[in-house]
Parts: sequence; structure tokens; C-alpha cells
Amino acid sequence: MLADYADYDQAIGLDWYALDPNLSSLLDRYLPDPEDRKFAEEHVAEYGELVGKTLAARAEVTDANGPVLERYDRWGYEVGTVVHHPSWTQNKADLVRSGFVGLERRTGRPVPAVVTAARSYLLSQCETAAYCALGMTGGAVDIVERYAPFSVRDLFVSRLTSLDPAEAWEGGMFLTERQGGSDVGANTTRAVADGDEWLLFGDKHFCSNVDADVFIVLARPEGAPEGTRGLATFIVPSRQEDGSPNGFAIKRLKPKLGTVGVPTGEVTLTGARAWLAGGDRAQADQRAARDGRGINRMMEMVNSSRFGVALMGLGIHRRSFLEAAIYAARRTQWDQRIDRYPLVRETLVDLLVDLEAGMTVTFECAGALRSADDPDEARLLRRVLIPLAKMRCTRVALWAASNALEIFGGNGYMHDWPIARQLRDAQCHTIWEGTENILAIDVRRAIRGDQAHEALGARIDRSLDEAGSHCLLAEARDVVAGVRRDTWEAISALAHAEEDLALLKARGLAELLADTAEAALLLEEAGASLARDGDARKTVVARRFVTRKLAQRPLRGLLDEDRTVIDLFEPLIRYGRIDPADVVRPTRA
Ligand SMILES: Cc1cc2nc3c(=O)[nH]c(=O)nc-3n(C[C@H](O)[C@H](O)[C@H](O)COP(=O)(O)OP(=O)(O)OC[C@H]3O[C@@H](n4cnc5c(N)ncnc54)[C@H](O)[C@@H]3O)c2cc1C
Repeated sequence: MLADYADYDQAIGLDWYALDPNLSSLLDRYLPDPEDRKFAEEHVAEYGELVGKTLAARAEVTDANGPVLERYDRWGYEVGTVVHHPSWTQNKADLVRSGFVGLERRTGRPVPAVVTAARSYLLSQCETAAYCALGMTGGAVDIVERYAPFSVRDLFVSRLTSLDPAEAWEGGMFLTERQGGSDVGANTTRAVADGDEWLLFGDKHFCSNVDADVFIVLARPEGAPEGTRGLATFIVPSRQEDGSPNGFAIKRLKPKLGTVGVPTGEVTLTGARAWLAGGDRAQADQRAARDGRGINRMMEMVNSSRFGVALMGLGIHRRSFLEAAIYAARRTQWDQRIDRYPLVRETLVDLLVDLEAGMTVTFECAGALRSADDPDEARLLRRVLIPLAKMRCTRVALWAASNALEIFGGNGYMHDWPIARQLRDAQCHTIWEGTENILAIDVRRAIRGDQAHEALGARIDRSLDEAGSHCLLAEARDVVAGVRRDTWEAISALAHAEEDLALLKARGLAELLADTAEAALLLEEAGASLARDGDARKTVVARRFVTRKLAQRPLRGLLDEDRTVIDLFEPLIRYGRIDPADVVRPTRA
């Protein structure tokens, strides 16, 4: 069991990996190869210290000292330079040296997706803004590696994955324009052919990490049709080879509510030189820019970014829990620690239960190749789980930050405590990379277009099988199996519903799918833990989740005698072992 949270003064300065046994147990589950697990231990554990002890303190300074745009130099020449506080540049330098993007290069071996996810989750606990900047850099590497012309590919990849802060480049992505972000098909930025290259003209309205070096940009080649099919994806350096700006001007930085460190700008492209993201041979073939597949390349980056934003939600959720657990253990009212009061206990336990639930689906996205039956099933699982995880984890993070803030009472609302920033930052992530509505509609598209729910249904069934037949899990498993059956019947019924009615139900359906998937995966973890060493902690977590989210409870449980959050509070929030005999066996109605 972890130490009493009252032993700590605050979260900053602690080793955040050592305090999170659930993270290491997910690494155990998704990395069965001992070499991979050893690699993960080394490179995830180093982030527990780096992030919790060093980067987190600087992130607070950055939040109070955001970037500014210096338009002119002292001679009056227009420069359009973004100036950062050293706290931001020092954090990014440490992350570059640690191989946040270039870990493969640093270690000389492939990096399991689960390891990248774990490091990103830890980083998000201190600064989702920094993860935004470097996460998009990782996304740009993928696009450049696959689709840039040979003439620049190796140089760009080498700079983007560099371990030397003095030469490392960063990436960004420009989709959104003034007239809309959800409906990117309305984009008006033009691409004009210029030999084997293209010149881009237009305005982009939300450009995060705007002072990065390489951007992945959506634009419409001249002569291409309206709508998303007419869009193409381009690779655009911010500077020309001689160092001068590449037809690119930052109009202003946006005055944001949160994620202050990363500059988000409005940009005008006035003939920015660009390459089509279509591979080497497509460069000389203008028809390739109008092949209707350009949007798919951008969606590859958007999808990996959406996964990253789900991890941002989890990071904020975890930080909110940790801060609240420490505060509640140290704060007294009526001469008693406030974490002795049942309602505070309930809030802290449910913060943790929902966090562990969110981690199941998100790490399943990262580890799908291992847990799916075949690569095609893994692809379909990711197709539906990524929008579900992004939608779920970012929304719940807001709830978590708000509830954690309230545990701080009035102090929580103040800038000199660390929780208000988490709430401000959390509000960004439900919007970034697609709002909740757009993600719910994307889940519907994954069901209708790709039949991805079949892969998800198969995965849920496997989880319920693997949960085993332990009597402590039986009732919860029956509840989840029943909801699984009813939900898939509803999917069939909605396929024949009127279009506007089916769209109206999209969010409710996505929420139900997320609850069912999380519950099933938690039960699988619970069954594995009981079978391994008879520890029932995860069983309590899974049962609590199912009771709150899926079970039918008369009077919402007002008269039931479940004392879980009171009696098992310590081992739940300090990750202690729970004896199955201490878990009250549910009475079947
Ligand atoms: C801090 C920040 C940084 C950002 N950085 C970037 C960046 O680096 N690059 C980039 O390209 N973009 C960026 N964005 C833009 C972001 O992706 C968009 O804001 C987002 O996609 C929503 O687009 P919008 O703002 O135009 O809202 P709109 O599309 O106008 O949506 C407004 C509302 O209408 C709803 N809505 C729209 N269409 C439908 C529909 N069919 N059904 C149901 N509801 C609908 C939406 O859910 C939303 O609630 C950033 C945004 C923020 C806040």
C-alpha cells in the first residue's frame, strides 16, 4: 500500500510513476514480453521523476508567463517572433533530450505504443500544452516519413526526432479556418501548382505550436472539387532554406482560457511553398493532388492526435485526483481530516474509479494489436475506440478537475493552488481535434461505414469471458452482458431510424458504448487480478463502476447498504491489497 497522502505536501516534487501502481499494472498487461516490459520500466519510470519533480514546477511558471508575439524588431522590421518564458523552453529541451519524440533514435530499438502512451499520460499530468506541441511533432514525423518527397524526407525526420534541443524541429497542423473547424470541407485555402511544388494561399484560424518548423496543412488544389474530397494534405516548412519566412505570417496569438504555454495563432499563408503529402512519385503528378484521398492522410494525423488528446484528459484526471487526495488528507475541518468524511471519500474513490475506467479503453487503443484476434480486428478496434476514448476521457477530465477543485474549497479557485489550471486546461480538450458531437458522429460513422462495432462487441465478449466465474464478479458481469446485448440490438434498430432521430441519439449511443467497453475491460482486469494473487481491489473498482454507470438501482441506491467507499477507502485510493472476504457479496434481487 502507498504511504498516507498526508505524508506529502503537494504533488509537485513527487515521483508520479511510483505513486501510480495502476499504470505499472497496465504495462504488465500490455507488454507480456519481458524485454519490452524492462524497456518500459526504464523509460516510463524516468518520466515519473522528470515530470513530477522538474517539469511540473516549471509548468506553473509558464502558465503565469505565456508566450507573446513580437511583431517588429527594434529597427522596425517585421519579424513575427513568438517569445517564450525560459520555463517553457527548458521543459521542451528536457523533453527533446529524453526522446519524447525520438525515443527510438535514443534507444536504437522500436518503442511499443503502450510506452509512448504511458510517457504521454505522465507528461499530461503536468502540462498538456507541452504534450500538444510535441505530440503534433510526433504526428508530423509519421506524415513526413510516409509522404514527403525523398529530397527532404530524411533531413526533416532527422530534425523532428533530434535529441539535441539546439537543432530539434517541431511540428503543427493547420486545418481549421474562420468559417469552421467541424466542417473542414468548407476550407478555402488554395494550393497553386508551381513545378513539382505548390504555393498555398489562405487564412488558418487556429494554429497551435504556431512557431514550429514544419506544418501539415489542408488546402484545396486549384480545379479540385468542393467538399472534403477536394482537399489535399501538404507539408509546409515555416522557413525557406535561406532562413527567410516561407510565405507565412502570424497575425496574432489567441487569448486562450488555458493551455497557455503553447502559442495558438491565426496565420495567413501568402504563397507558402509546400509539398504534396503523397509520396515521392506524386510530386511530379498533379493529378495525385486531386485523387480524393488527401483528406485521409490528414485524418491519419488527426486520429493519432485524438488518441493523444484522450491521454491529455487522463493526465488531467490523474493530477486532479492526486492533488485532491493530498489536500483532503492534510485539510482538517471540525478537528478531523476531511478525507474521513463519507462524502469526501465517495468523491475521491469515484475520481479514481473513473480514471481507471478511462485508462482501460485508452490503453486498449495503444495495445490493440496484442489483445485483438488479428491485425484487421485491431484496426477496427482502434477505429471505434479512439473517438470513444477521446470523447470519454476529455469530458470526464472536466468533471474530475471540477470535483477535485471543490475538495480544495475556496483555495481551489485561486491561482496560487495548482488545481484551477487543470480545470482551465481540461476545457480545451473536449474541443481540440473535434468536439464531443463530432466524435459521437464519427463513432456512428465507424459503425455504419466500417462495422467497427463488431470488433468492439467481440472484444467485450472476450473480456467478459476472461473475467472468469468468480462469485464476486458474477452480478456485475451479468449486468454488463445484458447491456452489451441490448446496446447491439439498439444499434440494429437505429440503422433503420429516421436520419435526424438517429443523429440525435449518436451521443447517447457513444456514451453507452464507452461505459460498456470500460466496464467489460475493468472486469477482465479484476478477474486477472483475482486469479493471479487473490487481490480483490480491482474487483471493487469494477463493481463500483458497473453499479454507478450501468446497473438499475431502485431509488438510485439511496437505501442500499453498500459501505464500499467508506470501509475500503484506504486500500482503494492507496492501492492496497483487498481480501475477497472483505468485499461484501452482492445479494441478487
Ligand atoms: C486551444 C485550441 C487550439 C486549437 N488548435 C488547432 C490547431 O492547431 N489546428 C487546427 O486545425 N485547429 C485547432 N483548433 C480548432 C479546433 O479543432 C476547432 O475549434 C474544433 O474542431 C471546432 O471547430 P469550430 O471551433 O469551428 O466549431 P464549430 O465547428 O463551429 O462547432 C460549434 C458547435 O457546433 C457543433 N456542431 C458542429 N457541427 C455539428 C454537427 N454536424 N452535429 C452536431 N453538432 C455540430 C460542435 O459540436 C460545436 O459544439 C484549436 C482549438 C482550440 C480551442
